[in-house]
Amino acid sequence: MKRQTITKQRYVVCPICKKGKIIMQDGSDEDMPFRLVLPGSKRKVHWYIKCEVCKNQIGITVKE
Ligand SMILES: [Zn+2]
Repeated sequence: MKRQTITKQRYVVCPICKKGKIIMQDGSDEDMPFRLVLPGSKRKVHWYIKCEVCKNQIGITVKE
């Protein structure tokens, strides 16, 4: 599969392995309204995404 590079495409990389691109972000420079939650954290999590590289599940929670 060929992936196109779109101008100003940004990624949120996995906080564990720093390699997996877990979230693709549209060109906006705005701060993301959510924060990542590492596995094992007691923080409340709204969503989970799985890193394709290290296979860890990373939580996402809305930033207060
Ligand atoms: Zn990872």
